[in-house]
Amino acid sequence: MVEELVRWGYLRTPRVIEAFRRVPREEFVPPSLRRYAYEDHPLSIGLGQTISAPSMIALMLESLEVERGQRVLEVGTGSGYNAALLAELVTREGRVVSIERLPRLASFGRENLRRTGYDWVEVVVGDGTCGYEPGAPWDRILITACSPGFPPPLLDQLRVGGRIGAPIGHFYHTQVWKVAEKGEEGLRVQSFTPCSFVPLVGKYGWREG
Ligand code: SAM
Repeated sequence: MVEELVRWGYLRTPRVIEAFRRVPREEFVPPSLRRYAYEDHPLSIGLGQTISAPSMIALMLESLEVERGQRVLEVGTGSGYNAALLAELVTREGRVVSIERLPRLASFGRENLRRTGYDWVEVVVGDGTCGYEPGAPWDRILITACSPGFPPPLLDQLRVGGRIGAPIGHFYHTQVWKVAEKGEEGLRVQSFTPCSFVPLVGKYGWREG
């Protein structure tokens, strides 16, 4: 899988490639879907949610430029796979907090992280559209569900010079993976690829139902 992601141009940076090699994706999918873990498409993790396709995750992490020692907030823990990759990138010198709104998925993600040796990643149950003030300011924020825009509390909790990435758009229509860098004078937003994510449900996201 990693070789293909490199050949197709999704993976470019040696540290990101190494992170993909080290995290066992099959440990983050339900047992019945393990044989599909290294195919390039999203897989169901229950409760109507998914673990994203490897190529999409590669693009997200390459565009976010996560550095060793950084403090990273992920919104949408799901399986915990993304959080494990973030942990590889920041190492124990940094901090990874991942917020999940569905308690059962938070437990699934936390257990997968524990079993694979990433027990120092903090999984919190809550509405990630409100961010996580105790860890702010964040160097990087990764939103892994489709949002109408960058939620204002998350922009407030991002340090100046920090980056936030999210699939922005409507969950029935076009979504685009966007990354914003926070400057003294405002945001510099870059658009990457069209994508398809489950909705970000919360106070500054979409309403449930
Ligand atoms: N990053 C995950 C992984 O590695 O498996 C995939 C995440 S899945 C595409 C999106 C997740 O976002 C779902 O688990 C969903 O329950 C969660 N979610 C949606 N709205 C949320 C919110 N406001 N706060 C926290 N999590 C949310």
